[in-house]
Amino acid sequence: MIPCAYFMNIFKVARSIWIGMGITLKYFLNHKKTLCTIQYPKEKDLIPARHRGIHYLETEKCVMCWKCSDICPVDCIYIEGVRGADGPLQGGYRGQKATLSKFTVDYTVCIFCGLCEEPCPPKCIWLGPEFDYHSTDRTMMEKNLLTDEVYTEGDEVFVEWARGENNRLQEEKKKQKEAEKAAKEAEKAAAAAAETEEEGSDAEGESAE
Ligand code: SF4
Ligand code: SF4
Repeated sequence: MIPCAYFMNIFKVARSIWIGMGITLKYFLNHKKTLCTIQYPKEKDLIPARHRGIHYLETEKCVMCWKCSDICPVDCIYIEGVRGADGPLQGGYRGQKATLSKFTVDYTVCIFCGLCEEPCPPKCIWLGPEFDYHSTDRTMMEKNLLTDEVYTEGDEVFVEWARGENNRLQEEKKKQKEAEKAAKEAEKAAAAAAETEEEGSDAEGESAE
């Protein structure tokens, strides 16, 4: 004989399915009022003002002090360039005023802690509202903050050129300093020789008297 509890269990399962399907039907019929998801990426939700997303850099304000990269706990900010107006990049990075040749953030490593914003003297680096930065390729996860695009091999060519220019300028400066030093020493030696010659002619004059 089948126990009564057996039928009770079947009844409870059927009842719970019925209740569940009722809730689904209710949401289906009222989906416009009860909707809690959006059709991303066609629709985008409002992002709170304090959201820490993808970085932005106001290139023309950056003084290349490396404070942001120094404080980064995961070392994912890479900066290169020439500080001051006499660098090889004078006139700007692709039309901009800065003397930077590289300023990238590696998003395979960044933890969006926002620490890099804090020590920046001109407050020119900040984490904006954008959060969508994705790729199936790890090499595409480094953002070039100078172009607001992915850092590419084309950018690397520019960085290599800037490094070469930097080295050439350093070499030129060094040679110029050495030439100036040599000229000063030659000047000193000539002055000393003239002095000795003068003293010699004075001594000759005195002995003739
Ligand atoms: S948000 Fe944090 S982890 Fe990301 S670059 Fe800035 S300091 Fe580094
Ligand atoms: S801390 Fe600010 S000024 Fe200094 S290198 Fe970073 S972004 Fe530029």
